[in-house]
Amino acid sequence: MTYRPSSFWSAYTFMTMIDIADNIRSLEAKIVQTSKKYGRPRGDVKLVAVTKGHPEEAVRCALKEGLRVFGENRVQEAKLKFSQLKIEFPDIDLHLIGPLQSNKVMEAVRLFDVIETVDRPKLADELSKAIRILGRTPRLYIEINIAEEPQKAGISPCELPSFFEYCAHTSKLNIEGLMCIPPQKEDPTPYFIKLHKLASSLHLSKVSMGMSGDYREAIAAGSTEIRVGTALFGTRSPATAVKELKSPGKS
Ligand SMILES: *Cc1c(COP(=O)(O)O)cnc(C)c1O
Repeated sequence: MTYRPSSFWSAYTFMTMIDIADNIRSLEAKIVQTSKKYGRPRGDVKLVAVTKGHPEEAVRCALKEGLRVFGENRVQEAKLKFSQLKIEFPDIDLHLIGPLQSNKVMEAVRLFDVIETVDRPKLADELSKAIRILGRTPRLYIEINIAEEPQKAGISPCELPSFFEYCAHTSKLNIEGLMCIPPQKEDPTPYFIKLHKLASSLHLSKVSMGMSGDYREAIAAGSTEIRVGTALFGTRSPATAVKELKSPGKS
């Protein structure tokens, strides 16, 4: 899918709206079922609908179905898609779930309600500065590189206590939770359990884990926020998210 001005989407919308509405209902049923199975109230598990790589129309379908919590992984893409929507729907709760570069911190603090990817001291300092300047305070989570994979962002579990301390006392940030993405080809459960334990050890109430392929395991292990994209909006082509930003029709 590419991101085009609304008029291009008249053919897209009707079928896709039905699909998205169906997907939302069937996912909701599965979340209810899974929560119940593990003795967790439905209200304990927040659904973050991940709209990266999908057009504004997809977000509008989800809004029609009553969803208000969305996740994006790029500041620029989120800004194009959500600036206007956030005016129309002031109760949208927008989460940044992708890496945050220091030079995008001001924009991110202006736009997002939750930043889930705090992962280095310099970023903590920049966030602190932006929050002071803008007078706006997004909720903040630390991203954990739960399996200590070399290619992945995040704080390693053993460095978490000192990084948390740094955020709280040096940068004066109020960290509310932890987030992780477990390795793709392994059983995620041990990693989910580990993240939940790390959060408990710091008395953090928010545990963001679980995606389309593993949200059930995440709910079982105590996730308070599952981040689901594909199961709601279908597959995205990795190239479009980048290309769409340069689309000449989009202001
Ligand atoms: C894309 C993404 C998701 C959603 O993944 P799906 O498999 O499409 O549900 C969740 N979390 C993060 C950090 C992501 O980048």
